Amino acid sequence: MKIVSLGTHDVRFPTSRELDGSDAMNPDPDYSAAYVVLRADNGLEGHGFTFTIGRGNEVCRAAIDALAPFVLDQPVDDLGEFARRLTHDSQIRWLGPEKGVVHLAAAALINAAWDLAAKAAGKPVWRLLADMTPEQIVDLVDWRYLSDALTPAEAIDLLEAVRPGRDERIAYLETHGYPAYTTSPGWLGYSDDKLVRLAAEAVADGYRLIKLKVGDDLDDDIRRMRLARDTVGDGVRIAVDANQRWDVGQAVEWMTALAPYQPWWIEEPTSPDDILGHAAIRQRLRPAGIRVATGEHVQNRIVFKQLLQADAVDVVQIDACRVAGVNENVAILLLAAKFGRPVCPHAGGVGLCELVQHLSIFDFVAVSGSLGDRAIEYVDHLHEHFIDPVVIRDGAYRVPAAPGFSAEMRPETLQRFAYPDGPAWAL
Ligand SMILES: [Mg+2]
Repeated sequence: MKIVSLGTHDVRFPTSRELDGSDAMNPDPDYSAAYVVLRADNGLEGHGFTFTIGRGNEVCRAAIDALAPFVLDQPVDDLGEFARRLTHDSQIRWLGPEKGVVHLAAAALINAAWDLAAKAAGKPVWRLLADMTPEQIVDLVDWRYLSDALTPAEAIDLLEAVRPGRDERIAYLETHGYPAYTTSPGWLGYSDDKLVRLAAEAVADGYRLIKLKVGDDLDDDIRRMRLARDTVGDGVRIAVDANQRWDVGQAVEWMTALAPYQPWWIEEPTSPDDILGHAAIRQRLRPAGIRVATGEHVQNRIVFKQLLQADAVDVVQIDACRVAGVNENVAILLLAAKFGRPVCPHAGGVGLCELVQHLSIFDFVAVSGSLGDRAIEYVDHLHEHFIDPVVIRDGAYRVPAAPGFSAEMRPETLQRFAYPDGPAWAL
């Protein structure tokens, strides 16, 4: 199977009109996708995208177009080689390396290739991955810069050790689903009434973990956290997310003030590049029982490696579209398993839930073998634009069955939300 054509789209949803997705650093996001369709010589299509929050989405689209020569007329049979070709061109690499817009663009293309390969195999991506041998899984990973933390041989041992019980774990997920948590109640722009109503609904819907945005005003956060705790009771966990708002000292002070309401984790307390800062925050918040989570803005596997080596995170938050797609996320899942840290993916946005469910299911079936303290973020926005949207029941993701990566948007969505000329933007 060879790729014969490539088309890109700038798709934007005017979510800022309702303050959906608002937080301390992103007050008015318009959830967007730099979207790519790969067409193969056998007529199949692979759809993929990277996520942005509006302005600059056109830059990601241009970066995907700049990578097109590394994809066109190329085979997609070896997905490890396909991914490495997109991240190691000697000239394009100058723009990163392995970070920023070029890495987002690589993610869109690599994820599209996985959608294509899974459709060709007649399997959902999670199963395509789970059916691979440990050697095949290890071949997907770019091992450069990882060997001081994890070698391919260690990764094979780790994967072999988890193989027993694989079919039972798949059967468990098909019955119970994969645990989800919800951020829907906690957007910073929502009123107290809306927060309380949505938090109560979340508990009634079966969620055992909800998340609130924090970091704009401490008095507001104390009030919102108290309202949420009073609403959900002590049996439901509440995580909080500062979206990189603080310096180290401020993070510790702010979270110490919220500690009486038992926050389960503090997410992105400071810059995603600040490994030692995360380590210091984690150490100083440990006596209060508050965990540190980060990852949705972590650039690549090397930074994840250092966060784990420096004991700087309790919860690893992969993102399906920020690092170089499925392949680099496999590397991060392996690193997290080696260091014994749970992976709780970032999702929401547009299409991130659809993609990342495949990676968490693969993690449980074939990598970590555990659901302990693990849950995939869920936000109830924009799923109607997908042909194979996620299905949530009783606070859990149902296992996707359709071939592919659940990445394909409806044709009418690509047309209606095309930026800047689609009818949704013609006000
Ligand atoms: Mg977050």
